[in-house]
Amino acid sequence: MTSSTTPTAYAVSPDSGEHWTAEGAWEVADGIHRIPLPLPMDGLKAINVYVIATDEGLVLVDGGWAIPEARELLDRCLRSIGSGFGDIRRFLVTHIHRDHFTMATVLGHELGADVALGIDEKPGLDLFHHGFDEHSENPFTQVLVTAGAADVAELWNQGPADQELPDLTLWQYPDTWLEGDVAIPVGRRTIDAVHTPGHTPGHYVFADRADGLLFAGDHVLPTITPSIGFTVPPTPQPLGDFMTSLTKVRALPDLRVLPAHGPVAPSSHARVDELLVFHEKRLEGCVVALAAGPATAADVAGHLGWTRHEHAYDELDVFSKGMAAMETKAHLELLVARGRATRSEASDGVVTFAAPG
Ligand SMILES: [Zn+2]
Repeated sequence: MTSSTTPTAYAVSPDSGEHWTAEGAWEVADGIHRIPLPLPMDGLKAINVYVIATDEGLVLVDGGWAIPEARELLDRCLRSIGSGFGDIRRFLVTHIHRDHFTMATVLGHELGADVALGIDEKPGLDLFHHGFDEHSENPFTQVLVTAGAADVAELWNQGPADQELPDLTLWQYPDTWLEGDVAIPVGRRTIDAVHTPGHTPGHYVFADRADGLLFAGDHVLPTITPSIGFTVPPTPQPLGDFMTSLTKVRALPDLRVLPAHGPVAPSSHARVDELLVFHEKRLEGCVVALAAGPATAADVAGHLGWTRHEHAYDELDVFSKGMAAMETKAHLELLVARGRATRSEASDGVVTFAAPG
């Protein structure tokens, strides 16, 4: 997540009356609780796991990041509402990112609960299982090179992470692949699983139209914009996919947003409109930058402001820089698809964009 569009001074969630990260099981609707769980890196502060009670047990939307602190807190919060791990029947996971998927797949396999994930996340999971050994390069390296950020790739590769192979217990395959849009019976409710690629290729939101609720994952976040283009293997039009998915969610009834990060928010329509405007403005910013001459995604990122404080690209830490370069590339690729920019790829993979004609 690299950019914000709304000031977050009011990060108080209406269900708790406290900052949205405050520990507890907060009732957001009849039989549905929000449990914020900690993340090891504080950039996003926490992730909301939603617990839906049914006569047959619990269905959880997302599972949290598989770290001991989060596991203990989830256990404690479930006990505070008279339940426990043994009651969990199913995990509906919005996407493959580790703050959403890893605890779901670990607990799901331990408890014999069904874990459901979008099938378009399979190439990402396959990459963990078969894609590299201790000699392979970080899978993001080539993506960063195409974005003109080879310098960033070099720094990423000096980090400790790529010396280790992925811990496959955190990346066990789901029991159920979600494919297309499907209605899922959850106790007395019908939850519509809606495929919303963009943030990741297999992202899903879950809509409970009868109760007016949208379990939004990272697709519609109330105070920040989700990162775009930060996935391996890369997809050709992540921003185009994201904006199409926003339009798809805009066509649903106006729903209360139950986001994975941030406070519960009143209107999916209002937030989707803000996100669409935000990205159109960024696209215009890219057009202005290209008017100065052909440029790589990293060059163009240098012309844009980053985070809610409009930081310069060069002021960002090396991780955020990489995300910013990849997100800018997603904007430029969409301009190409719209006929507002051209692209050329050099033999080393670096892509240069230019104003047409
Ligand atoms: Zn997330």
